[in-house]
Amino acid sequence: MKSIVLASNNAKKMNELNALLAPLGFEVIAQGQLGIPEAEEPHCTFVENALAKARHAANLSGLPALADDSGLCVAALGGAPGVYSARFAGEPKSDARNNEKLLADLGAHCNRAAHFVSVIVLVRHADDPQPLIAEGEWHGEILAAPRGESGFGYDPLFYVRDFDCSAAELDAATKNRLSHRGQAMQKLIDRLPTL
Ligand code: IMP
Repeated sequence: MKSIVLASNNAKKMNELNALLAPLGFEVIAQGQLGIPEAEEPHCTFVENALAKARHAANLSGLPALADDSGLCVAALGGAPGVYSARFAGEPKSDARNNEKLLADLGAHCNRAAHFVSVIVLVRHADDPQPLIAEGEWHGEILAAPRGESGFGYDPLFYVRDFDCSAAELDAATKNRLSHRGQAMQKLIDRLPTL
């Protein structure tokens, strides 16, 4: 089994990625298990932040590293919260306060269109000049009130039209298949044998 460090300490993200990679013979190790602190995410694009996180984890672990930078882009808010999704309502980061702020900022706006973005980067080593980069998008709408208990982040406010429910009402396997991260992972997986 090949080991890959995941440059995230988000347990739910970890579970989503593990479910996708374990059947392919990859063991995903959270960077926290190796004592690696979270990297800075100073950039204004998903891809730059994902690369910074992956290089940081590869540098400190000596292993190939996988990083995902993701967020929610809301059309009526000019793409916000975007790369600031995790801390939209400030420190300390809180999904509940982020969701409250999103509803407050959007108010009664009739354009509720939004999409999740995930950029996943895999570096073979810290200085890898040709990282594998894959991107996924998941389109939906922002509900007027939260629904459902599963998932994390903005899932309770993200309406999935094809299933007539929120992302937090989907079972994990369905969310993995549909989601921005699931789509990005599938694209990456197609190229993993070259690792
Ligand atoms: P990251 O860990 O810097 O990529 O932060 C991403 C943030 O975007 C998370 O903290 C969530 O607020 C939001 N986010 C990303 N993916 C999802 C998802 O699948 N469901 C709900 N929220 C998500």
